[in-house]
Amino acid sequence: MSPGRPIRLLLCLLLIPFAAAGAQQAEPSSPRNASYEIDVTLDPEGRMLEGRQILEWRNIQEVSTDELWFHLYWNAWRGNRSTWMLEDRVRDRSDRRGKEKDEDYGWIQVDSVRLLGDPSADGRDQEIELTTRYASPDDGNPDDRTVLVVALPRTVEPGETIRVALTWKARIPRTFARTGYRGDFYFFAHWFPKLGVLEPAGWNCHQFHAATEFYSDYGAYVVRMTVPAAYVVGATGLEDEQIENSDGTVTHQYSQNDVHGFAWTTSPHYDVIEERFEMAGLPPVELRLLMQPEHLGQAERHLAASRAALESYGTWYGPYPYGHVTIVDPAYGSGAGGMEYPTLFTCGTRRFNPPGGDSPEGVTVHEMGHQFWYGLVGNNEFEHAWIDEGLNTFSTIRTLEHAYDPRILVRRYLDGFVPLRFPEIEVSRWNRRLNQMRRAGSSDMPGKPTYHYFPGTAGVITYSKTALWLATLERHLGWETLREILSTFHESYRFEHPLPADFFAVADEVAGQDLSWFFDQVHGDSVAFDYAVTRAKSTRVRTRGWVEQQGELVLMDTDEDEDEDADDDSDDAEGDDEEKVYRTEVVVNRLGDGRFPVDVLMVFEDGEEVRETWDGRDRWKMFVEERPSRLEYAEVDPDRVLMLDPVRTNNSRMRKSQAKLPARSWGTKWMLWFQDRLSGFAFYM
Ligand SMILES: [Zn+2]
Repeated sequence: MSPGRPIRLLLCLLLIPFAAAGAQQAEPSSPRNASYEIDVTLDPEGRMLEGRQILEWRNIQEVSTDELWFHLYWNAWRGNRSTWMLEDRVRDRSDRRGKEKDEDYGWIQVDSVRLLGDPSADGRDQEIELTTRYASPDDGNPDDRTVLVVALPRTVEPGETIRVALTWKARIPRTFARTGYRGDFYFFAHWFPKLGVLEPAGWNCHQFHAATEFYSDYGAYVVRMTVPAAYVVGATGLEDEQIENSDGTVTHQYSQNDVHGFAWTTSPHYDVIEERFEMAGLPPVELRLLMQPEHLGQAERHLAASRAALESYGTWYGPYPYGHVTIVDPAYGSGAGGMEYPTLFTCGTRRFNPPGGDSPEGVTVHEMGHQFWYGLVGNNEFEHAWIDEGLNTFSTIRTLEHAYDPRILVRRYLDGFVPLRFPEIEVSRWNRRLNQMRRAGSSDMPGKPTYHYFPGTAGVITYSKTALWLATLERHLGWETLREILSTFHESYRFEHPLPADFFAVADEVAGQDLSWFFDQVHGDSVAFDYAVTRAKSTRVRTRGWVEQQGELVLMDTDEDEDEDADDDSDDAEGDDEEKVYRTEVVVNRLGDGRFPVDVLMVFEDGEEVRETWDGRDRWKMFVEERPSRLEYAEVDPDRVLMLDPVRTNNSRMRKSQAKLPARSWGTKWMLWFQDRLSGFAFYM
């Protein structure tokens, strides 16, 4: 996207007619330049998939190409030398990494690639067998097989369409990155040879990395999945037909237009629950929930969370246009939970899940929310994962705040199996994000490509830091302005691949101001934000030393001790009828390199309050007040606008004890620690 591109301002979102909403709109919403027709057969005994596919690709760039670059994502788990596996070791995950068994590994092998001639030319397809090679454009890893380059016999010019037929086989892994099997539960994500994206600079087709996700063009998908007859199927799109085969299998055909991927799942154990989302001003959505039988009691909670997300995101950013979504509750221990795919997502739950702790609601809202940020706005997740994950993490928390009661503490014991509920302890939904910021908020420069982030802390930058700078912007600009920024960005880049500069341009335009001072810090740099009150003193004003009276120098009462900051009220001795005045000095320091305008609040013992604003640019600033009352306490950023400042305990200071006030709503230190432990049980991807 060129930086100078004009922004299509959305004047009134809710006036958009919904007549076109539905599964298969006649008018393409997206460029539909990478479309697939796929036949795939599951062999449960052999743990294999066998596929045939025809890709129809139209070159929508202004450059020609004589190659096609494909992702072969499943080769990330072909062996322990792939880039994904090597990077995964750097992440401190406590599951099976490094302890893979033979049955864990999986792979995908392309057997043939043929260029199909135009069938209308002479009535029959011409086929040209094409040659292939592997490429490792990101790290040169010779053992990585996640990118396949196909050489074409001629160049494909701008505007030209070609069709390519591929045959392939894939060995199904035990779930890696939410893909694979567990018993007779199967989840298939990024399972077929999938074309990269041609850009003006050439093919954008990164290797599969441990801490990044996906990037594809939009297209129309028709997929026929053949599985044992007893198996239930859930997939992107809607089912067109079922064909019973003589060998005891059933072929399920699903199709979906204007999406950039296709995921599916199958298992004999799903219970299917269907419901319709309806809300005035938004298009209806059919919800299809595939539940594990042992979790059936939580079905309504998933549906309610899905409805909450459809309502919030739909109202705030723009309506969900597809008319249907499939919600998948994956098998226990499958590791497939908590992930987004076009018109389908996986939630995640546990057998015992008391209400109030945001589980399972948090994951369900987040993954439903990805239909808007990821599904409809298709940014490059290899390079700028913060766009979808960060905007969505912010929107998830906002939706939970909007639709649910305040979160309470739920602590889990015995490997998470037994939950204990503390209804009297409220836990801010921002705690986990702030804890992560304290730990690793400066671990990477957010503006560099996501796949270059340190694998162990990539999530902190992508999810938490972005969500916190959006929360900061909300408090700085006001919700209505931020909402308009997000909805304008959403509407302007639906079915497109926006870049960070596109987001920043929309923000400047809608806010009516240059926000580069902010984005340069939170995206272009890795500075930490930390403001602190380091001095809070009140001293009675008494003139001492030599003063001039009637032309002569007179020495004032030097015998009395200076009652600096006295609390013993000795200065209130009888006979002292002089009107008291106190000089209060409050010093605020900028301890981090990040700069942000902050308010400074001084509260005096007589209840008076003084509020000053500081541009926050220098390293410190002293605020002086002379008043008839002493200071009670001082606080920098009392409204908590700067959500990027994770160290709240130093933001306020009592004069009397010279102690730091306990942080007011983030909880005490042990609570933060508690939250930190808890975060190990949650997951958002
Ligand atoms: Zn996510």
